[in-house]
Amino acid sequence: MPELPEVETVRRGLAPAMEGAVIAKASVNRPDLRWPFPERMAERLTGATVLQLRRRSKYILADLSTGETLLIHLGMSGRMLVTGDPLGQFVHDHQPAQKHDHVVFDMENGARITFNDPRRFGAMDLMETARQAEHPLLTVLGPEPLGNTFDESYLYERLKDRKTPIKSALLDQKNVAGLGNIYVCEALYRCRIHPARKAANLSKARITGLVPVIRDVLTDAIAAGGSSLKDFRQADGELGYFQYSFDVYGREGDPCRRAGCDGTIARIVQSGRSSFYCPQCQR
Ligand SMILES: [Zn+2]
Repeated sequence: MPELPEVETVRRGLAPAMEGAVIAKASVNRPDLRWPFPERMAERLTGATVLQLRRRSKYILADLSTGETLLIHLGMSGRMLVTGDPLGQFVHDHQPAQKHDHVVFDMENGARITFNDPRRFGAMDLMETARQAEHPLLTVLGPEPLGNTFDESYLYERLKDRKTPIKSALLDQKNVAGLGNIYVCEALYRCRIHPARKAANLSKARITGLVPVIRDVLTDAIAAGGSSLKDFRQADGELGYFQYSFDVYGREGDPCRRAGCDGTIARIVQSGRSSFYCPQCQR
């Protein structure tokens, strides 16, 4: 499942083909994904210029010259392909249509953007740009972890009285937007905090210490995604999935990588999600 760094990598990969470009033709090949598509979606997109591509949490937002914003969510298995990119960044030829190509944008500049989603947990929606803050998917989101409002005093005030495990508090999108299971596990490991610790029982220093670490974990992963774009070799033009080595995630039974720690990475299940951590150095 794509997390924030993967979505940001997709956004960066789409930008050269889409920003400032006109959607010559939008094709919508089914009535819905996770939810029904908005009415007349193809018609409302065709002819629009993409003014800018932004990301909010795990959503890609395309502001259009029509006064509307297109929201794209990759869901569990959604993939974005860029082919025929005229800027020479991606040299791929257009592919024959595949079974799960649900939405296709043919840009006036010759690029083709294909949204393929076998499991159909993805979503697209259109909203008035001026009223985007009221969109049900966006209005519930807390601050961006890489944005300016997510800082030490914010996180401390937000978490100091929470009786929930710190892991659940960080996964709560109202506290911080877009943080997922993998990067929360990694951040807690770097901070030596046990994922089941109650937020309210952590000292102020330990809570505030999470802020720069969360930023670092995400920034490192985005950088890895960025190098995957630069070194773009995937045959079909797919964006956003890259090799990244995690310290704890998926490493149950492996030795802890922290210098001087002889612990073994363990896994517990919290709210139905796996938490990976080192019982020796995370308290
Ligand atoms: Zn350890």
